[in-house]
Amino acid sequence: MSGEQISSPALQFDDAGLPYSTTYADHYFSRAGGLDESRHVFLHGNDLPQRWQTREHFVIGETGFGTGLNLLATWQCWDTQAGLCRRLHYVAVEKHPLNRTELQQALALWPELEIYTHRLLAVYPAQVAGFHRLHPAPGLTLTLLFGDVSAMLPLLQARVDAWYLDGFAPARNPAMWQPEVFRLLAQLAAPGATLSTFTVAGMVRRGLAEVGFTVEKSPGFGHKREMLRARLAKPSARLALKKPWLALPEFALNASPNGQQATIIGAGLAGCAIANALACRGWQVTVLERDAGPAQQASGNPAGLVMPRLSAVRDASNDFYLHGYLYVLREIKRLQAQGHNLRWQPCGVVQCAADAADCNRMERALQAYDLPAAVARLLNPTELSDVAGIPLPYHGVWFPGGGWLEPRSLCQVWLQQAGITTCYNAPAHRLEYADGQWQVFDQNGLLSQSPVLILANGLAATQFADLDWLPLWAYRGQTSAVQPTTSTRDLRVALCGPVYLTPRIALAGDTVADDALIHSEHVIGATFQAYERDPALRSEDDQDNLQRLQHWLPDLVTADASVRSLFANVRAATPGRVPVVGPAPDAAMFETQYAELFRHGKPARYYPPAQHQPGLYMLTGLGSRGIVGAPLAAEYLASLVSGEPLPLPRNVIDILNPMRFLVQQMKARQ
Ligand code: SAM
Repeated sequence: MSGEQISSPALQFDDAGLPYSTTYADHYFSRAGGLDESRHVFLHGNDLPQRWQTREHFVIGETGFGTGLNLLATWQCWDTQAGLCRRLHYVAVEKHPLNRTELQQALALWPELEIYTHRLLAVYPAQVAGFHRLHPAPGLTLTLLFGDVSAMLPLLQARVDAWYLDGFAPARNPAMWQPEVFRLLAQLAAPGATLSTFTVAGMVRRGLAEVGFTVEKSPGFGHKREMLRARLAKPSARLALKKPWLALPEFALNASPNGQQATIIGAGLAGCAIANALACRGWQVTVLERDAGPAQQASGNPAGLVMPRLSAVRDASNDFYLHGYLYVLREIKRLQAQGHNLRWQPCGVVQCAADAADCNRMERALQAYDLPAAVARLLNPTELSDVAGIPLPYHGVWFPGGGWLEPRSLCQVWLQQAGITTCYNAPAHRLEYADGQWQVFDQNGLLSQSPVLILANGLAATQFADLDWLPLWAYRGQTSAVQPTTSTRDLRVALCGPVYLTPRIALAGDTVADDALIHSEHVIGATFQAYERDPALRSEDDQDNLQRLQHWLPDLVTADASVRSLFANVRAATPGRVPVVGPAPDAAMFETQYAELFRHGKPARYYPPAQHQPGLYMLTGLGSRGIVGAPLAAEYLASLVSGEPLPLPRNVIDILNPMRFLVQQMKARQ
């Protein structure tokens, strides 16, 4: 994803209201009837709906998402003729994403699809390059890969049952029909996969045949005499891994392992997010928590900021947080649309620049990511003061969709999903793996057993299952409440600088209050004290927060402002500040299999794929970015253990992989 750019579609609507690309000099769909064409070429061309009706899960891949018409035609058909198919995955790549207005205009051509158009528009993402995982309806997962087909497909991990090739006519857009693209289609294809397309161009037929598809012509739609249907005759060799030590468990990509039951240790943001993501997929989940309720530890902060992390260099970790940010905003919307009450204030967030160099860095970051103004935009001090509601002397980046959230309220809502059983005051003490089951014991006996176990217990993850090599670092953090002054009381956005400062919030003790009569305060935070594990509140930390605030905004806050302790706890962070998400490695096996890794310069292909502890996964090390990191990390992990297309690109998955630390440690030793 890094370095991959997207651009606007150069779209026109012709006299009949049909979308037309001036870049490729071609229509998005047939003038003879786009919806009927879609049904004929792509649904019937892949023997749908019959094929998915006998399958629990089915994966469709598309090159050229365009207006989403093929998706909607497929969705409508699945809605009425799903058969056994509980989950339909639709993965589509698009280099020139339409904006919402264009999408709406194009899809208005199809009144019979109106309810699907409406639901698609509700989740349709901003034009940001990369992978977007969307949940337009229960059971339907849409993964939009915004970027060039040749850059996006190598980053995808999925087993596609039916490919729709819809990338404008080959003569007008040869980039979509290259041998390399065909090779990737075959590598991503599930056994028995089919493919269809409107074109019968010789280079397409030959290209598909060369990578293992049996190709046949069949009657085309409208004025087109013929179209192509193809079936994968022999499974293609998988993409050779550049780093086999980062391979994911093969079974996880094929199908769900040993049933659909999981135990999760920990009911903070990480544990609740993964519990919900699995339960939404029909899993039976038991959440074990040593405290008396959810989010009592590091996720207990009354108000955390929801904003991405951007830096001038575009890399996988910033990509993770940018897409994590976009994902959590959609997740909040999804839960609110179900009627859930979250303590969430979408007031927007401004990240203030410290000085001219910082401002320059921010400008470069926005350029590197090419973010639309609806996602992020640089403001000068006058503009910034306008959005903030109070005078501020800084430049800064404005994230209009951001805000502050009480993480506990999100955890509570997540846990209400059917299929989740919570056990509080249940401290996991010991694990055993026997007969394909992970058994979790407390001091008195068995708490839970299941084929899949997920460690989402922060720093405590290292106490189990030979994971003591995992470098999780303790960082103490304290937030404080400060009385508003006449200069700050009108602040209406959250600010981020040397500390963060929220608008006034009604607080009761250390939680957000429903009772608006309780006086309101700004939340400031948080301290970041490495290697400290003491969770007790400290008045000197309040002074530290206040001093940093006062130093930052000397015209607004005095050094003797009234401040009180709000919340303190210890977070688990990793070197590199990226969480640990993925399968738990078999560390002993790693030492044996990869002993030569940094010695003889043997090429990667000579190493076997990594081995893991069966059914054991982890999601921890979220540091102070749990709100933005946990939902997307959980969606990834739930997809992995369910054998679904993965919602993150390979390069991001690699930097989350717990195995990275074993590799780093081995390198350091040699
Ligand atoms: N399936 C679409 C629909 O239902 O509206 C119509 C797709 S239109 C014929 C072809 C699409 O391929 C366009 O949206 C275009 O932007 C996209 N496209 C063209 N070149 C591409 C490339 N190199 N990588 C990814 N997408 C590309």
